Amino acid sequence: MPMREACGLLGVFSSQFDGSIAKTIYYGLFALQHRGQESAGIAVSDQNSIRYHKGLGLVSEVFKEEDLERLGGRIAIGHVRYSTTGSNSLSNAQPLVVKYHSGELAIAHNGNLVNAYELRNELEQNGAMFHTTTDSEVIAALIARSHKSLTEAIFECTERIQGAYSLLLMSKDKLIAVRDPNGFRPLCIGSYNGSYVVASENVAFDTIGATFIRDVEPGEIVIFEESGLSSIKRRSSRRSLCVFEFVYFARPDSMIDQVSVYQTRWKAGAILAQEHPVDADLVVAVPDSGNVAAIGFSDFSHIPMGMGLIKNRYIGRTFIQPSQRIRNLGVRLKLNPLRELINAKRIVLVDDSIVRGTTMGQIVKMLKDCGAKEVHVRISSPPITHSCYFGIDTSTRKELIASDNNIESIREFIGADSLGYLSVEGLVRATGMRKEDLCLACFIGDYPVETPREGKKYLFEKR
Ligand code: AMP
Repeated sequence: MPMREACGLLGVFSSQFDGSIAKTIYYGLFALQHRGQESAGIAVSDQNSIRYHKGLGLVSEVFKEEDLERLGGRIAIGHVRYSTTGSNSLSNAQPLVVKYHSGELAIAHNGNLVNAYELRNELEQNGAMFHTTTDSEVIAALIARSHKSLTEAIFECTERIQGAYSLLLMSKDKLIAVRDPNGFRPLCIGSYNGSYVVASENVAFDTIGATFIRDVEPGEIVIFEESGLSSIKRRSSRRSLCVFEFVYFARPDSMIDQVSVYQTRWKAGAILAQEHPVDADLVVAVPDSGNVAAIGFSDFSHIPMGMGLIKNRYIGRTFIQPSQRIRNLGVRLKLNPLRELINAKRIVLVDDSIVRGTTMGQIVKMLKDCGAKEVHVRISSPPITHSCYFGIDTSTRKELIASDNNIESIREFIGADSLGYLSVEGLVRATGMRKEDLCLACFIGDYPVETPREGKKYLFEKR
Protein backbone atom coordinates (compact mmCIF):
# COMPACT_ATOMS: atom_id res chain seq x y z
CA MET A 1 0.00 0.00 0.00
CA PRO A 2 1.26 3.48 -0.83
CA MET A 3 2.86 5.71 1.74
CA ARG A 4 1.38 9.14 1.53
CA GLU A 5 2.68 12.08 3.39
CA ALA A 6 0.96 15.23 2.28
CA CYS A 7 0.35 16.66 5.68
CA GLY A 8 -0.19 19.78 7.77
CA LEU A 9 2.24 21.13 10.37
CA LEU A 10 1.89 23.66 13.14
CA GLY A 11 4.35 24.65 15.86
CA VAL A 12 4.42 27.22 18.67
CA PHE A 13 7.42 28.49 20.64
CA SER A 14 6.19 30.46 23.60
CA SER A 15 8.20 32.87 25.72
CA GLN A 16 6.69 31.47 28.91
CA PHE A 17 4.82 28.45 30.21
CA ASP A 18 1.43 28.40 28.54
CA GLY A 19 -1.23 26.12 29.96
CA SER A 20 -3.30 26.40 26.80
CA ILE A 21 -0.51 25.84 24.25
CA ALA A 22 -2.08 22.54 23.12
CA LYS A 23 -5.39 24.32 22.58
CA THR A 24 -3.69 26.87 20.34
CA ILE A 25 -2.28 24.04 18.24
CA TYR A 26 -5.64 22.26 18.31
CA TYR A 27 -7.50 25.27 16.89
CA GLY A 28 -4.76 25.91 14.35
CA LEU A 29 -4.90 22.30 13.18
CA PHE A 30 -8.56 22.80 12.30
CA ALA A 31 -7.43 25.33 9.70
CA LEU A 32 -5.00 22.75 8.29
CA GLN A 33 -7.43 19.83 8.35
CA HIS A 34 -7.71 19.89 4.54
CA ARG A 35 -4.03 18.79 4.41
CA GLY A 36 -4.76 15.51 6.15
CA GLN A 37 -7.72 13.73 7.65
CA GLU A 38 -6.32 10.36 8.66
CA SER A 39 -4.61 11.13 11.91
CA ALA A 40 -3.80 14.05 14.15
CA GLY A 41 -1.37 14.61 16.98
CA ILE A 42 0.08 17.20 19.32
CA ALA A 43 3.37 16.97 21.25
CA VAL A 44 4.28 19.49 23.95
CA SER A 45 7.50 20.21 25.80
CA ASP A 46 7.35 21.77 29.26
CA GLN A 47 11.18 22.13 29.31
CA ASN A 48 11.60 18.86 31.23
CA SER A 49 9.92 16.30 29.08
CA ILE A 50 7.82 15.81 25.97
CA ARG A 51 4.27 14.56 26.26
CA TYR A 52 1.90 13.88 23.43
CA HIS A 53 -1.50 12.76 22.34
CA LYS A 54 -2.31 11.41 18.89
CA GLY A 55 -4.89 9.26 17.22
CA LEU A 56 -6.58 8.23 14.00
CA GLY A 57 -9.25 10.49 12.57
CA LEU A 58 -10.08 14.16 12.31
CA VAL A 59 -8.79 16.75 14.77
CA SER A 60 -12.28 16.96 16.28
CA GLU A 61 -12.31 13.19 16.83
CA VAL A 62 -8.82 12.73 18.22
CA PHE A 63 -8.75 15.27 21.05
CA LYS A 64 -10.96 15.62 24.08
CA GLU A 65 -10.83 18.61 26.40
CA GLU A 66 -8.88 16.66 29.04
CA ASP A 67 -6.24 15.55 26.50
CA LEU A 68 -5.51 19.19 25.77
CA GLU A 69 -5.59 20.30 29.39
CA ARG A 70 -2.94 17.75 30.26
CA LEU A 71 -0.58 19.24 27.67
CA GLY A 72 0.65 22.55 29.07
CA GLY A 73 4.15 23.70 28.15
CA ARG A 74 6.35 26.16 26.30
CA ILE A 75 6.84 24.49 22.96
CA ALA A 76 4.36 22.46 20.95
CA ILE A 77 4.06 20.89 17.54
CA GLY A 78 1.01 19.45 15.83
CA HIS A 79 0.41 17.39 12.77
CA VAL A 80 -2.45 16.23 10.57
CA ARG A 81 -1.70 13.31 8.31
CA TYR A 82 -2.95 12.28 4.94
CA SER A 83 -2.55 8.68 3.85
CA THR A 84 -4.53 5.61 2.88
CA THR A 85 -5.35 2.47 4.88
CA GLY A 86 -2.10 0.61 4.30
CA SER A 87 -0.15 3.12 6.24
CA ASN A 88 -2.97 4.45 8.35
CA SER A 89 -1.94 2.85 11.60
CA LEU A 90 -1.62 4.59 14.93
CA SER A 91 2.12 3.89 14.97
CA ASN A 92 2.45 6.02 11.85
CA ALA A 93 0.55 8.96 13.34
CA GLN A 94 2.68 12.01 14.06
CA PRO A 95 4.37 13.79 15.77
CA LEU A 96 6.78 10.92 16.13
CA VAL A 97 8.36 11.11 19.58
CA VAL A 98 11.67 9.30 20.15
CA LYS A 99 14.00 8.97 23.11
CA TYR A 100 17.71 8.95 22.31
CA HIS A 101 21.06 9.60 23.97
CA SER A 102 20.52 13.38 24.19
CA GLY A 103 16.96 13.22 25.47
CA GLU A 104 13.68 13.36 23.61
CA LEU A 105 12.83 14.54 20.15
CA ALA A 106 9.47 15.06 18.46
CA ILE A 107 9.21 15.29 14.73
CA ALA A 108 6.44 16.21 12.31
CA HIS A 109 6.96 15.87 8.58
CA ASN A 110 5.18 17.02 5.44
CA GLY A 111 6.48 15.64 2.16
CA ASN A 112 8.10 12.48 0.89
CA LEU A 113 11.75 11.47 0.84
CA VAL A 114 12.93 9.82 -2.35
CA ASN A 115 15.90 7.98 -0.78
CA ALA A 116 14.21 6.81 2.45
CA TYR A 117 14.35 3.17 1.37
CA GLU A 118 18.12 3.20 0.84
CA LEU A 119 18.75 5.14 4.03
CA ARG A 120 16.55 2.85 6.06
CA ASN A 121 18.36 -0.23 4.71
CA GLU A 122 21.70 1.30 5.60
CA LEU A 123 20.51 2.23 9.10
CA GLU A 124 19.08 -1.25 9.67
CA GLN A 125 22.35 -2.84 8.64
CA ASN A 126 23.97 -0.70 11.31
CA GLY A 127 21.59 -1.93 13.97
CA ALA A 128 18.74 0.60 13.87
CA MET A 129 15.24 -0.69 14.48
CA PHE A 130 12.10 0.88 13.06
CA HIS A 131 8.62 0.90 14.55
CA THR A 132 6.72 2.65 11.78
CA THR A 133 6.51 2.51 8.02
CA THR A 134 7.02 6.23 7.54
CA ASP A 135 10.05 7.89 6.06
CA SER A 136 9.85 10.42 8.89
CA GLU A 137 11.31 7.79 11.21
CA VAL A 138 14.36 7.63 8.96
CA ILE A 139 14.89 11.33 9.63
CA ALA A 140 14.50 10.77 13.37
CA ALA A 141 16.97 7.84 13.25
CA LEU A 142 19.60 9.84 11.37
CA ILE A 143 19.40 12.66 13.90
CA ALA A 144 19.32 10.35 16.92
CA ARG A 145 22.44 8.48 15.80
CA SER A 146 24.53 11.62 15.54
CA HIS A 147 26.68 12.69 18.49
CA LYS A 148 26.79 16.33 17.45
CA SER A 149 24.57 19.11 18.80
CA LEU A 150 20.92 18.89 17.74
CA THR A 151 21.29 21.69 15.20
CA GLU A 152 24.42 20.14 13.69
CA ALA A 153 22.77 16.72 13.64
CA ILE A 154 19.78 18.18 11.78
CA PHE A 155 22.10 19.95 9.37
CA GLU A 156 23.96 16.69 8.67
CA CYS A 157 20.68 14.84 8.28
CA THR A 158 19.51 17.32 5.65
CA GLU A 159 22.72 16.63 3.73
CA ARG A 160 21.68 12.98 3.43
CA ILE A 161 17.93 13.02 2.91
CA GLN A 162 16.60 13.81 -0.53
CA GLY A 163 13.15 14.74 -1.72
CA ALA A 164 10.41 16.84 -0.19
CA TYR A 165 10.42 17.72 3.46
CA SER A 166 9.01 20.51 5.49
CA LEU A 167 9.79 19.55 9.06
CA LEU A 168 9.08 20.67 12.58
CA LEU A 169 11.39 19.24 15.23
CA MET A 170 11.09 19.81 18.94
CA SER A 171 13.55 19.01 21.73
CA LYS A 172 12.78 19.94 25.30
CA ASP A 173 14.01 23.49 24.76
CA LYS A 174 14.04 24.16 21.00
CA LEU A 175 11.67 24.31 18.09
CA ILE A 176 13.34 23.84 14.73
CA ALA A 177 11.70 24.38 11.34
CA VAL A 178 13.30 22.95 8.21
CA ARG A 179 12.38 23.31 4.56
CA ASP A 180 14.09 21.22 1.88
CA PRO A 181 16.41 22.99 -0.59
CA ASN A 182 13.82 22.77 -3.38
CA GLY A 183 11.06 24.21 -1.19
CA PHE A 184 8.58 21.61 -2.44
CA ARG A 185 6.13 22.08 0.43
CA PRO A 186 5.18 25.37 2.04
CA LEU A 187 6.19 26.48 5.54
CA CYS A 188 5.86 29.92 7.09
CA ILE A 189 6.61 31.80 10.30
CA GLY A 190 4.29 34.04 12.28
CA SER A 191 4.07 35.61 15.70
CA TYR A 192 1.43 36.10 18.35
CA ASN A 193 1.56 37.37 21.93
CA GLY A 194 5.35 37.34 21.92
CA SER A 195 5.41 33.73 20.70
CA TYR A 196 6.60 32.34 17.42
CA VAL A 197 4.37 30.16 15.28
CA VAL A 198 5.29 28.01 12.29
CA ALA A 199 2.70 26.52 9.95
CA SER A 200 2.28 24.76 6.63
CA GLU A 201 -0.15 27.48 5.56
CA ASN A 202 -0.75 30.95 6.93
CA VAL A 203 -4.50 30.27 7.26
CA ALA A 204 -3.62 28.64 10.57
CA PHE A 205 -2.28 32.04 11.74
CA ASP A 206 -5.60 33.70 11.04
CA THR A 207 -7.40 31.09 13.11
CA ILE A 208 -5.21 31.53 16.18
CA GLY A 209 -4.81 35.30 15.82
CA ALA A 210 -1.15 35.26 14.77
CA THR A 211 0.52 37.60 12.28
CA PHE A 212 2.48 36.36 9.30
CA ILE A 213 6.20 37.24 9.43
CA ARG A 214 7.76 35.41 6.48
CA ASP A 215 8.10 32.11 4.64
CA VAL A 216 10.83 29.66 5.64
CA GLU A 217 13.25 29.79 2.71
CA PRO A 218 14.03 26.66 0.71
CA GLY A 219 17.11 25.05 2.31
CA GLU A 220 16.69 27.02 5.52
CA ILE A 221 16.87 25.68 9.08
CA VAL A 222 15.24 28.07 11.56
CA ILE A 223 15.92 27.58 15.27
CA PHE A 224 13.63 29.04 17.92
CA GLU A 225 15.07 29.02 21.43
CA GLU A 226 15.20 31.03 24.64
CA SER A 227 17.72 33.47 23.14
CA GLY A 228 15.53 34.12 20.09
CA LEU A 229 15.43 33.06 16.49
CA SER A 230 18.44 32.09 14.39
CA SER A 231 18.75 30.64 10.94
CA ILE A 232 21.15 28.50 8.95
CA LYS A 233 20.92 28.51 5.19
CA ARG A 234 22.02 25.40 3.36
CA ARG A 235 23.35 25.60 -0.15
CA SER A 236 20.35 26.12 -2.37
CA SER A 237 19.20 23.88 -5.17
CA ARG A 238 16.77 24.62 -7.89
CA ARG A 239 13.65 26.02 -6.26
CA SER A 240 10.69 23.85 -7.15
CA LEU A 241 7.55 24.68 -5.23
CA CYS A 242 4.82 22.10 -5.87
CA VAL A 243 2.34 23.65 -8.29
CA PHE A 244 -0.34 21.22 -7.11
CA GLU A 245 -0.47 23.16 -3.84
CA PHE A 246 -1.99 25.97 -5.92
CA VAL A 247 -4.14 23.68 -8.05
CA TYR A 248 -5.74 21.63 -5.32
CA PHE A 249 -4.00 21.07 -2.08
CA ALA A 250 -3.73 24.38 -0.22
CA ARG A 251 -6.68 26.39 1.00
CA PRO A 252 -7.72 29.24 -1.31
CA ASP A 253 -7.21 31.79 1.48
CA SER A 254 -3.53 30.87 1.88
CA MET A 255 -0.50 32.66 0.48
CA ILE A 256 2.39 30.41 -0.47
CA ASP A 257 5.79 32.03 -0.96
CA GLN A 258 3.88 35.31 -1.32
CA VAL A 259 1.61 34.03 -4.06
CA SER A 260 -2.13 34.00 -3.42
CA VAL A 261 -3.74 30.61 -3.92
CA TYR A 262 -7.11 32.28 -4.62
CA GLN A 263 -5.69 34.60 -7.29
CA THR A 264 -3.87 31.70 -8.92
CA ARG A 265 -7.02 29.59 -9.09
CA TRP A 266 -9.11 32.49 -10.35
CA LYS A 267 -6.59 33.28 -13.07
CA ALA A 268 -6.32 29.59 -13.98
CA GLY A 269 -10.09 29.60 -14.55
CA ALA A 270 -9.96 32.79 -16.61
CA ILE A 271 -7.08 31.52 -18.77
CA LEU A 272 -8.94 28.23 -19.17
CA ALA A 273 -11.94 30.14 -20.56
CA GLN A 274 -9.58 31.89 -22.95
CA GLU A 275 -7.87 28.67 -24.06
CA HIS A 276 -11.05 26.55 -24.33
CA PRO A 277 -14.03 28.83 -24.97
CA VAL A 278 -17.46 27.27 -25.29
CA ASP A 279 -20.95 28.44 -26.04
CA ALA A 280 -22.98 27.52 -22.96
CA ASP A 281 -25.70 28.70 -20.54
CA LEU A 282 -24.28 28.04 -17.09
CA VAL A 283 -20.91 27.52 -15.36
CA VAL A 284 -21.07 24.93 -12.58
CA ALA A 285 -18.18 24.21 -10.22
CA VAL A 286 -17.40 20.85 -8.73
CA PRO A 287 -17.48 21.99 -5.11
CA ASP A 288 -15.17 22.81 -3.45
CA SER A 289 -12.15 21.93 -5.55
CA GLY A 290 -13.44 23.71 -8.69
CA ASN A 291 -15.05 26.75 -7.01
CA VAL A 292 -12.48 29.48 -7.53
CA ALA A 293 -11.49 28.43 -11.05
CA ALA A 294 -15.19 28.35 -11.99
CA ILE A 295 -15.56 31.96 -10.81
CA GLY A 296 -12.57 32.91 -13.00
CA PHE A 297 -14.09 31.02 -15.95
CA SER A 298 -17.46 32.68 -15.48
CA ASP A 299 -16.00 36.19 -15.00
CA PHE A 300 -13.91 35.89 -18.14
CA SER A 301 -16.49 34.20 -20.38
CA HIS A 302 -19.50 36.17 -19.04
CA ILE A 303 -21.39 32.90 -18.77
CA PRO A 304 -23.32 33.09 -15.48
CA MET A 305 -22.38 30.77 -12.68
CA GLY A 306 -24.83 28.75 -10.60
CA MET A 307 -24.60 26.26 -7.77
CA GLY A 308 -25.64 23.28 -9.83
CA LEU A 309 -23.98 20.85 -7.45
CA ILE A 310 -24.55 20.98 -3.71
CA LYS A 311 -21.94 19.45 -1.50
CA ASN A 312 -22.68 17.57 1.66
CA ARG A 313 -20.50 19.33 4.25
CA TYR A 314 -20.20 16.26 6.43
CA ILE A 315 -18.42 13.94 4.03
CA GLY A 316 -14.63 14.12 3.77
CA ARG A 317 -12.60 14.08 0.59
CA THR A 318 -13.48 11.04 -1.50
CA PHE A 319 -9.80 10.33 -1.96
CA ILE A 320 -9.37 9.29 1.61
CA GLN A 321 -11.50 6.24 0.89
CA PRO A 322 -9.28 3.32 0.05
CA SER A 323 -11.23 1.19 -2.39
CA GLN A 324 -12.61 2.09 -5.77
CA ARG A 325 -16.05 0.78 -4.75
CA ILE A 326 -16.28 3.16 -1.82
CA ARG A 327 -14.83 5.94 -3.94
CA ASN A 328 -17.61 5.39 -6.48
CA LEU A 329 -20.21 5.67 -3.78
CA GLY A 330 -18.33 8.68 -2.43
CA VAL A 331 -19.31 10.95 -5.28
CA ARG A 332 -23.00 10.33 -4.72
CA LEU A 333 -22.59 10.66 -0.98
CA LYS A 334 -20.83 13.94 -1.45
CA LEU A 335 -22.67 15.77 -4.22
CA ASN A 336 -26.28 16.39 -5.13
CA PRO A 337 -27.31 18.00 -8.40
CA LEU A 338 -29.77 20.91 -8.39
CA ARG A 339 -32.21 19.67 -11.00
CA GLU A 340 -34.11 22.91 -11.63
CA LEU A 341 -30.89 24.76 -12.42
CA ILE A 342 -29.43 22.13 -14.70
CA ASN A 343 -32.41 20.89 -16.67
CA ALA A 344 -32.31 21.79 -20.39
CA LYS A 345 -29.08 23.82 -20.02
CA ARG A 346 -25.70 23.66 -21.71
CA ILE A 347 -23.36 23.35 -18.74
CA VAL A 348 -19.66 24.17 -18.38
CA LEU A 349 -18.48 21.93 -15.56
CA VAL A 350 -15.27 23.16 -13.93
CA ASP A 351 -12.97 21.16 -11.66
CA ASP A 352 -9.34 21.54 -10.70
CA SER A 353 -8.06 18.16 -11.87
CA ILE A 354 -8.84 14.72 -13.19
CA VAL A 355 -6.79 11.99 -11.56
CA ARG A 356 -8.34 8.59 -12.23
CA GLY A 357 -11.43 9.98 -13.94
CA THR A 358 -13.89 8.32 -11.58
CA THR A 359 -15.26 11.51 -10.06
CA MET A 360 -15.75 13.37 -13.30
CA GLY A 361 -17.44 10.46 -15.10
CA GLN A 362 -20.01 10.21 -12.32
CA ILE A 363 -20.69 13.92 -12.13
CA VAL A 364 -21.21 14.22 -15.87
CA LYS A 365 -23.69 11.36 -15.68
CA MET A 366 -25.42 13.01 -12.73
CA LEU A 367 -25.89 16.22 -14.71
CA LYS A 368 -27.11 14.40 -17.81
CA ASP A 369 -29.57 12.43 -15.69
CA CYS A 370 -30.92 15.80 -14.53
CA GLY A 371 -31.63 16.83 -18.08
CA ALA A 372 -28.48 18.82 -18.96
CA LYS A 373 -28.50 19.35 -22.72
CA GLU A 374 -24.71 19.40 -22.99
CA VAL A 375 -21.88 19.04 -20.46
CA HIS A 376 -18.56 20.68 -21.34
CA VAL A 377 -15.84 19.76 -18.89
CA ARG A 378 -13.08 22.29 -18.23
CA ILE A 379 -10.14 21.42 -15.99
CA SER A 380 -8.05 24.19 -14.43
CA SER A 381 -4.78 22.24 -14.61
CA PRO A 382 -3.08 20.17 -17.34
CA PRO A 383 -3.53 16.37 -17.70
CA ILE A 384 -1.77 14.50 -14.87
CA THR A 385 0.53 12.09 -16.64
CA HIS A 386 3.17 11.25 -14.03
CA SER A 387 3.07 10.18 -10.39
CA CYS A 388 4.29 12.36 -7.59
CA TYR A 389 7.17 11.27 -5.35
CA PHE A 390 7.11 14.41 -3.26
CA GLY A 391 4.04 13.99 -1.12
CA ILE A 392 0.91 14.54 -3.18
CA ASP A 393 -1.15 11.45 -3.66
CA THR A 394 -1.74 11.55 -7.36
CA SER A 395 -1.57 7.79 -7.60
CA THR A 396 0.62 5.37 -9.53
CA ARG A 397 1.13 5.98 -13.20
CA LYS A 398 -1.04 3.16 -14.37
CA GLU A 399 -4.02 4.56 -12.44
CA LEU A 400 -3.70 8.02 -13.94
CA ILE A 401 -6.20 8.27 -16.73
CA ALA A 402 -4.11 10.78 -18.69
CA SER A 403 -0.92 8.71 -18.54
CA ASP A 404 -1.92 6.58 -21.51
CA ASN A 405 -5.11 8.13 -22.87
CA ASN A 406 -5.41 11.12 -25.14
CA ILE A 407 -7.91 13.92 -24.49
CA GLU A 408 -10.47 12.42 -26.86
CA SER A 409 -10.51 9.05 -25.11
CA ILE A 410 -10.73 10.72 -21.69
CA ARG A 411 -13.66 12.79 -22.98
CA GLU A 412 -15.34 9.62 -24.14
CA PHE A 413 -14.61 7.85 -20.85
CA ILE A 414 -16.19 10.61 -18.75
CA GLY A 415 -19.09 11.01 -21.19
CA ALA A 416 -18.66 14.77 -21.73
CA ASP A 417 -19.62 16.69 -24.88
CA SER A 418 -16.24 18.41 -24.85
CA LEU A 419 -13.18 18.44 -22.62
CA GLY A 420 -10.52 21.13 -22.23
CA TYR A 421 -7.54 21.20 -19.88
CA LEU A 422 -5.53 24.28 -18.96
CA SER A 423 -2.11 24.31 -20.65
CA VAL A 424 1.12 24.07 -18.64
CA GLU A 425 2.01 27.61 -19.76
CA GLY A 426 -1.45 28.81 -18.72
CA LEU A 427 -1.03 27.33 -15.25
CA VAL A 428 2.43 28.81 -14.82
CA ARG A 429 1.09 32.20 -15.95
CA ALA A 430 -1.72 31.93 -13.40
CA THR A 431 0.80 31.56 -10.55
CA GLY A 432 2.82 34.57 -11.73
CA MET A 433 5.96 32.57 -10.88
CA ARG A 434 8.82 31.55 -13.14
CA LYS A 435 8.35 28.11 -14.67
CA GLU A 436 11.78 27.00 -13.43
CA ASP A 437 10.79 27.78 -9.83
CA LEU A 438 7.89 25.32 -9.84
CA CYS A 439 7.69 21.54 -9.67
CA LEU A 440 5.48 20.57 -12.60
CA ALA A 441 6.54 16.91 -12.59
CA CYS A 442 3.02 15.43 -12.43
CA PHE A 443 2.16 17.31 -15.64
CA ILE A 444 5.39 17.11 -17.60
CA GLY A 445 7.46 14.31 -16.04
CA ASP A 446 10.48 16.53 -15.39
CA TYR A 447 11.40 15.67 -11.80
CA PRO A 448 13.51 18.30 -10.01
CA VAL A 449 15.35 15.61 -8.01
CA GLU A 450 16.11 12.04 -8.98
CA THR A 451 13.19 9.75 -8.17
CA PRO A 452 13.07 6.09 -7.21
CA ARG A 453 11.84 3.59 -9.74
CA GLU A 454 8.02 3.39 -9.84
CA GLY A 455 6.90 1.13 -7.01
CA LYS A 456 10.00 1.60 -4.88
CA LYS A 457 8.15 4.05 -2.68
CA TYR A 458 5.76 1.31 -1.65
CA LEU A 459 8.39 -1.04 -0.33
CA PHE A 460 8.17 -0.02 3.31
CA GLU A 461 4.62 -1.24 3.37
CA LYS A 462 5.19 -4.51 1.58
CA ARG A 463 7.63 -6.17 3.86
P1 AMP B 1 -10.54 11.18 -9.78
O1 AMP B 1 -11.89 10.60 -9.56
O2 AMP B 1 -9.48 10.18 -9.38
O3 AMP B 1 -10.31 11.70 -11.17
O4 AMP B 1 -10.37 12.39 -8.75
C1 AMP B 1 -10.47 13.72 -9.13
C2 AMP B 1 -10.98 14.55 -7.98
O5 AMP B 1 -10.11 14.39 -6.87
C3 AMP B 1 -11.03 16.03 -8.31
O6 AMP B 1 -12.27 16.54 -7.89
C4 AMP B 1 -9.90 16.63 -7.51
O7 AMP B 1 -10.28 17.86 -6.95
C5 AMP B 1 -9.62 15.64 -6.42
N1 AMP B 1 -8.18 15.48 -6.19
C6 AMP B 1 -7.15 15.73 -7.00
N2 AMP B 1 -5.98 15.43 -6.44
C7 AMP B 1 -6.25 14.98 -5.22
C8 AMP B 1 -5.47 14.51 -4.12
N3 AMP B 1 -4.15 14.45 -4.18
N4 AMP B 1 -6.11 14.12 -3.00
C9 AMP B 1 -7.44 14.17 -2.93
N5 AMP B 1 -8.25 14.59 -3.92
C10 AMP B 1 -7.66 14.98 -5.05
